Amino acid sequence: MTVSWILRCVECGAEHDGVELRYRCDCGGTLDVEHTFPHHLTRELFDARLGSPDALDRSGVWRFRELVLPLDREHIVTRGEGATWMYDAPSVARWTGLASLRLKHEGENPTGSFKDRGMTAGISMARRLGMTRVAVASTGNTSASAASYAAIAGMRAFVIIPDGQIAYGKLSQALAYGARTLQIRGDFDDAMRLVQEICDREGIYLLNSINPFRIEGQKGIGFEILQDLGWEPPDWIVLPGGNLGNNTAIAKAMEEALSLGLIDRLPRIAVIQAAGANPLYKAWHGDGTLVPVKADTIATAIKIGNPVSFTKSLTRVRRSNGVVEQVTDAEILEAKAHVDAAGIGAEPASCATVAGLRKLVAAGVIGADETVIGVLTGNVLKDPGVVVDYHRSDAPHANRPIPVDANYDAIKRALVR
Ligand SMILES: *Cc1c(COP(=O)(O)O)cnc(C)c1O
Ligand SMILES: [Zn+2]
Repeated sequence: MTVSWILRCVECGAEHDGVELRYRCDCGGTLDVEHTFPHHLTRELFDARLGSPDALDRSGVWRFRELVLPLDREHIVTRGEGATWMYDAPSVARWTGLASLRLKHEGENPTGSFKDRGMTAGISMARRLGMTRVAVASTGNTSASAASYAAIAGMRAFVIIPDGQIAYGKLSQALAYGARTLQIRGDFDDAMRLVQEICDREGIYLLNSINPFRIEGQKGIGFEILQDLGWEPPDWIVLPGGNLGNNTAIAKAMEEALSLGLIDRLPRIAVIQAAGANPLYKAWHGDGTLVPVKADTIATAIKIGNPVSFTKSLTRVRRSNGVVEQVTDAEILEAKAHVDAAGIGAEPASCATVAGLRKLVAAGVIGADETVIGVLTGNVLKDPGVVVDYHRSDAPHANRPIPVDANYDAIKRALVR
């Protein structure tokens, strides 16, 4: 049976069948899904689905199914991912130097991160291919998401995580949803290398973002941002970069929306890396080649030294006339204090977005009056350890818990002090 997409190698351009079980070209390059879109794809079609009770229409991924992956309904495994809130965040805007700022909160996905958008597409493809076992290497959120979606699909999930470096909000989900969880004595980059080998040799379906269908699902963030804005593209979309799949996905969504006439210009993409895990930043400001680093940052979701989507990302960020910035852990924590205190809240990696924005506005790269959408990638509850440690410290925005005697007068005094 023929399908309406192919897999294209991003290095040599070779074409592979759309349902062939492979994650790389023979040349070693990663693969992009290339669709032949039908003709009737209009803003009105997607907007009409907003009021629909159909589960696929209510998902912020499958609402755009013709643009994401036109699978048969029986193959689609969804738990209502996406449809996340876009916050107007005036206090955060002021801190960054912007006149206004909107934050798209991907931490409001079913398992608390944008990974669910990629996972619903990846696991549906697994079902389409008849796979029964799936695996991921993960800094945490991918494992939480894969574990949940595999359980819902009735598949066995294997998770390989770096030992002792995973936030409890994430590890607890992988365990709770029943994934067989292997904590290796190594870092994420070791886990990534091993899971690829194990999947190849054992016939297990790989659900890391090297899987091109993960990227297709994550395009839903981009389409949903456009729909949230009445299809008026923003000047900038700003997001953190680790393995670099997500910025690739959003940039791809924008290019496809432009090619279909859903929008009339491309937003610029700004990718923010942690200074301790910054291979894209180095390549961007150097000669454009990937030199892996030994990753070190408090933002564990972007603690990746050898990003698998490097080539895809670099190509598309360039095409968007984008930029790459880096931020220190101290800058991430300060940004997080502002995002959290605004009542919005997000995990550390997400707040690299806001820290990077502040730098880019200060440097004059992003104008104070430009329209900016910042993507918050994960939920505040993912990493409670970082939050509690920060607020118990002497940090400038620490909101320390106050010990008080258990009587009325002591509490009244503490209220005003
Ligand atoms: C996975 C993840 C990232 C990094 O996304 P990439 O696609 O790997 O660049 C950032 N923030 C959070 C919360 C994540 O889970
Ligand atoms: Zn190739």
